[in-house]
Amino acid sequence: MIQLYHPLSASATPSLLTVRAVSCPPMSVARRILLRASRSAWLARQLRDRAFFRRAVRRFMPGEALSAALEAAADLAAQGIGSVLTQLGEQVATRGEAARVRDHYLDVLAQVRERRLPSELSVKLTHLGLDVDRAACRADLEALAQGAADAESFLWIDMEESRYVDATLEMFRSVRAAYSRVGVCLQAYLRRTPADLDALLALAPAIRLVKGAYNEPAALAYTVKRDVDSAYLTLAERLLDRAARAQARPVFGTHDMRLAQQIRERATALHVAPGSYEVHMLYGIRASDQRALAREGVRVRVLISYGTHWFPWYMRRLAERPANVWFVVRNLI
Ligand SMILES: Cc1cc2nc3c(=O)[nH]c(=O)nc-3n(C[C@H](O)[C@H](O)[C@H](O)COP(=O)(O)OP(=O)(O)OC[C@H]3O[C@@H](n4cnc5c(N)ncnc54)[C@H](O)[C@@H]3O)c2cc1C
Repeated sequence: MIQLYHPLSASATPSLLTVRAVSCPPMSVARRILLRASRSAWLARQLRDRAFFRRAVRRFMPGEALSAALEAAADLAAQGIGSVLTQLGEQVATRGEAARVRDHYLDVLAQVRERRLPSELSVKLTHLGLDVDRAACRADLEALAQGAADAESFLWIDMEESRYVDATLEMFRSVRAAYSRVGVCLQAYLRRTPADLDALLALAPAIRLVKGAYNEPAALAYTVKRDVDSAYLTLAERLLDRAARAQARPVFGTHDMRLAQQIRERATALHVAPGSYEVHMLYGIRASDQRALAREGVRVRVLISYGTHWFPWYMRRLAERPANVWFVVRNLI
């Protein structure tokens, strides 16, 4: 067991971080530290305004302003690549903040419509005040679903930590009952996800399948990459099988090119029509693969994040690939 004195708690004062290194390979230790760091208000305050840190963040976002995200979406559209826009932020503490997020997204949809961009939206329910007032959050989500329908766009619901899964799926079901242009993210690392997917399939749902980006206990989630990858492929096959019968819109949110290739081969074997599934990646990650896939006829979208509340999100990007920490270090020099 390693004990590190490090300011990783969400509280204002540094706390003791205990990492059970005995049971984790070294990469897992780095990942766990970065994911705990993502929830540290203290660390966020220390790093957010440092120039070297802000420079490193730019690798994953075209800018903090919506205008930068819309420009990036237009550039991608010119290359035959769609986009998904998301304003960074989560776990707001007041209804006022949540209402501002809703109004911001309604404005984004209006701009997408006006500029005729092939852009969709992705929102976090805790950014829309899930923790504050569930009924108001549902009403805001419905307003966004209506806005997405009016703009002929699409509304994705992100999946956050495991404690939000039930509420997120319940909210998705209720909004999906009235609006068809709504989809939800499922995380392959969660042991419950096969059952969740089965329960959703009757809705002919739009599902964005991802591996999962949070720090979850082994009782709830696979912690070994090989197990997560295998769970992902099994779920992907189930979705493709439905897509072959036009009973699902599967989106594979991954940069894992080996997995993407396996999914494509499976899609061909199942006679899934081209365009009946999509691959979504994050802005700034594997950009050349994004373009290559699009050239080869795969439907590709890039999720573009923008906004000022990037600290927890950026730390999750570092945790996905701890080698990314060297980008931060390089920006120091
Ligand atoms: C469109 C989209 C939406 C997402 N939405 C959610 C969500 O709602 N909820 C959620 O929990 N998670 C979400 N994620 C994150 C996801 O859960 C994974 O954490 C993330 O995609 C990394 O997993 P991977 O599938 O790319 O595979 P990995 O096995 O982690 O990575 C495969 C390869 O991709 C490259 N790569 C991956 N991540 C990075 C990175 N950060 N920097 C540089 N290279 C990288 C590396 O070359 C790596 O070897 C989303 C991801 C995408 C692409």
